[in-house]
Amino acid sequence: MKEIACKLLVIGAGPGGYVCAIRAGQLGVDTVIVEARKPGGTCLTVGCIPSKAFIHAAEEFDKVRHFAKGQSAIGISVEAPRLDLGKTVEWKDGIVGRLTGGVSALLNKARVKIVKGEAKFRDGKTVEVETETGTQIIRAENIVIATGSEPVEVPALPFGGTVISSTEALALREVPPKLVVIGGGYIGLELGIAFSKMGSDVTVVEATKQILPLYDGDLVRPVVKRLKELGIRVLTNASAGSLSDGGLVIQTAEGASETLPADKVLVTVGRRPRMEGWGLDELDLDRAGRFLRIDDRCRTSMRGVYAIGDVTGEPMLAHRAMAQGEMVAEIVAGHKRNWDKRCIPAVCFTDPEIVSAGLSPDEARGQGLEIRVGQFPFAANGRAMTTESEDGFVRVVARADNHLVLGIQAVGQDVSELSSTFALAIEMGARLEDIAGTIHAHPTRSEGFQEAALKGLGQALHI
Ligand code: FAD
Repeated sequence: MKEIACKLLVIGAGPGGYVCAIRAGQLGVDTVIVEARKPGGTCLTVGCIPSKAFIHAAEEFDKVRHFAKGQSAIGISVEAPRLDLGKTVEWKDGIVGRLTGGVSALLNKARVKIVKGEAKFRDGKTVEVETETGTQIIRAENIVIATGSEPVEVPALPFGGTVISSTEALALREVPPKLVVIGGGYIGLELGIAFSKMGSDVTVVEATKQILPLYDGDLVRPVVKRLKELGIRVLTNASAGSLSDGGLVIQTAEGASETLPADKVLVTVGRRPRMEGWGLDELDLDRAGRFLRIDDRCRTSMRGVYAIGDVTGEPMLAHRAMAQGEMVAEIVAGHKRNWDKRCIPAVCFTDPEIVSAGLSPDEARGQGLEIRVGQFPFAANGRAMTTESEDGFVRVVARADNHLVLGIQAVGQDVSELSSTFALAIEMGARLEDIAGTIHAHPTRSEGFQEAALKGLGQALHI
């Protein structure tokens, strides 16, 4: 049995863990990272990156199909396109390979020792890893749990065969003719829209009264409109039952039973923290609901044991995990840090895309704040017109008294690229006047942001 000792041990090399280890290594902290699968975690291997590769491929295919149907107002026509999903998956796997290889290279460059295998706690300072060359014992002064999350199953529909999670969906080599998506959250809709554009006949079954239940109705409306255009059937207030010979049995909002024909049933009803398999019982750490409880320094209830990323709760997003990882590395290196972020932007890569940073109007009002709301439609934006995508808007929420920006949301084509501008404005404590007084390049969608701020001040120029 081999034994090593280090100052910092990170368990899990997803975006939280690998960023933590790289930063710690850069700061001269003697660091070991253990990963059971591939560096990059859910995000790089079966999450953010593969899904966006799929979405891009689907959009390219759909665009050419649109041209082939003679529907292009700009005068382009082509022959009917064909999609080889096997090739698409190989291309996607190539990107994943480059990125996971890149993460390993960055860890090596930062002099982080990588141990491959499943880590199990022996006690709060000791971990055991079954590696290909035998058992490795690692003793560490500080341990970071970054074990991430995994898809949740519907009890009556266990994963396997027809029933798949996002992981299997992103590895399909043929487009399923009929796809039922259970769960109208961002993962289900991103993939449902992509498969629809690739040619699947898609139905979305959502248990609540609205798809994307975490966003307000105004932001979701353009997505609902687009789903209709794509021919995606959306059943809200509906619940999934079980598989029958004919497909998936569901209960509709009206209480009727209906069988939806399905070649694949994609279950995207949420993700749960990965709590099993690493000896949590040995530690008895405090929980916050299903997640590990942490404080504003990502410390758990046990001294020297930190937790970051999806295992610590919502929002389960890669950039939150990375920010936590970077902070914990600095704390272990002796710096004074705590979680002082004003916002964690969230993006839905649906069609159109949705971005949200900070407070929505309802959230701000819910906190008893008096607000001003400025909203500018892309229908009045020149760039949106020239890219044939005028649906959507930018909305700015600010305090009524001093115009401090509390939240910014947008829905529209490519608005994901505005997310960093929105987050920057909130982190920097911008006021409506700061945004309105910043020259925004013309013609860009970002002008919608400036105009929304102007609207909030009662001075909009282009509406
Ligand atoms: P993970 O990325 O889950 O990594 C945890 C790692 O720990 C894994 O590699 C796992 O193998 C390893 N591990 C677990 N237990 C052990 C053990 N005992 N020993 C050794 N290793 C272990 N987020 C976004 O911000 N933007 C997006 O667009 C986005 N799209 C997504 C699309 C899909 C389809 C999915 C599924 C997720 C998406 N996410 C997105 C969420 C994002 O992937 C996660 O928030 C992020 O990966 C969390 O990072 P993490 O480091 O906490 O954990």
